[in-house]
Amino acid sequence: MVNKLAEQQAENLQKVVESDLHFIGAGANFYHSTEQSNWSRFPVFAEELVSKSDTLIALQWMPRVESGDVAEHTRKVRATFPNFEIYTIPKDGPKTSGYLMADNQPIFVVSDIFPRSEANIGLLGFYSSRLRFQLVLDGLAATGEPNVSDKVRLLQDGLDQNLKKTGMLVYHPVFDIEKKQELIGVVVGVIRTTHYFDGLVKRTATEQDLLIKVIDMGFDAEDDSVLYQSEGWDSSEGIEITKRVTLPNREWLVDFKLVNNVTENERLVLTWIALAGCVIAVLLSYIVWLLVRDKEHLGLLLDERTEELQFMVDHDSLTGLYNRRAFNRFLSDMVEREQTFSLIAFDIDKFKSINDYFGHVAGDEMLVFVTNTVQAQLDESDIFVRMGGDEFCILSPKIDRDDLFAYLNNICRVVASSVYESDHHKIRCTLSVGAAVRMLESEEEILKAADAQLYKSKQAGRNCVTVAD
Ligand code: GH3
Ligand code: MG
Repeated sequence: MVNKLAEQQAENLQKVVESDLHFIGAGANFYHSTEQSNWSRFPVFAEELVSKSDTLIALQWMPRVESGDVAEHTRKVRATFPNFEIYTIPKDGPKTSGYLMADNQPIFVVSDIFPRSEANIGLLGFYSSRLRFQLVLDGLAATGEPNVSDKVRLLQDGLDQNLKKTGMLVYHPVFDIEKKQELIGVVVGVIRTTHYFDGLVKRTATEQDLLIKVIDMGFDAEDDSVLYQSEGWDSSEGIEITKRVTLPNREWLVDFKLVNNVTENERLVLTWIALAGCVIAVLLSYIVWLLVRDKEHLGLLLDERTEELQFMVDHDSLTGLYNRRAFNRFLSDMVEREQTFSLIAFDIDKFKSINDYFGHVAGDEMLVFVTNTVQAQLDESDIFVRMGGDEFCILSPKIDRDDLFAYLNNICRVVASSVYESDHHKIRCTLSVGAAVRMLESEEEILKAADAQLYKSKQAGRNCVTVAD
């Protein structure tokens, strides 16, 4: 948006300047294309031009006058302007009357001016004796093109050197019609440049935050190149966009600045809002972090508990062996898969008396001791189960009756010869073992068979093994 606005304003400025240049050019054309006898009609022609421009404050005719013709020229001009007297303002000197040039150089004297205001009339008779003007003349003669000056102090404002430079001069060459290369005079347009920029500011006034700075990039402008600068330009910050306005022999940079118009109070409020926002953001992220951490912690706890529960469902809490529930599942799976295996049931002999004699706690310890002792003798492929109380079962892949018998007998002997040493007592126990090999039997049949063998071992006097035929 700012770019578009800047573009438009720069274009407008370019157009206004071009139109002034055009008017001044037209003024030069008057002298170029009319007979000298008609030159007195210049005001009629100039009025039309100057009235169309707000910025063109004077059109002046400066014919070339040879040193020998100064008196004659003065006499002629006095016919229209009785007070006409030639003068110059030498560099660093006061206004000086008369012809001052060295080497009989010709001078270019203001001999007619429009509008004929008091300030403009004061310029009649002025000729420039400065080198700078000579350079302009050389340029005009060489190129035939108009020349636009840098920022100048206008004589219309007075002769005080402290006055502000608010204008520029546009020089248009006038050549002799017949002898084309001969410069017979210069038409000078006096432009109040500040009017351009005031206009520019006025046009952008609706966009109140747009500041403008115009810099002259052309010849001789280096020492004081700022043509215009909005108030507060240096102390304001904002987006800057630069556009160019091109004149015949120079270029202006027009900088536009869109100011961030934030008051001190608003800035303070915004700072507090930003700070509060930061604090809230930090607190929120801390809360989120806490929640995530707790959730992770709970998740881990839940996993642990689930695992524990899973274990408890299938295992006996005292010995850590599989329980009856797990046993039932194993057994039905194996039967279903038509596996052959042996089912071994054993029971601690006279366990009740251990409880009675040594106490229930020692009884528990004895159950764990027997479990560990038996476990140490089992093959890895055996499944060891505590069915409840002092009753245990083993599911073993051994199906050879003799092997099985020898295997179980060994277990029986090891248990019978082991001694559990509790705090104050040495406790011994024996096992009664019954086993049956499953070939085609159902779950119930094999359970019954093993049970029957266990019963037989008890009947046979305990501490022995019986395997079904
Ligand atoms: P039998 O030789 O005929 O098997 O005689 P027994 O005394 O071992 O008789 P039975 O097997 O019927 O008795 C089992 C006893 O085991 C009954 C109960 O007091 C005890 N008991 C059952 N579960 C536990 C337990 O978890 N801890 C303890 N300390 N004792 C238990
Ligand atoms: Mg028992």
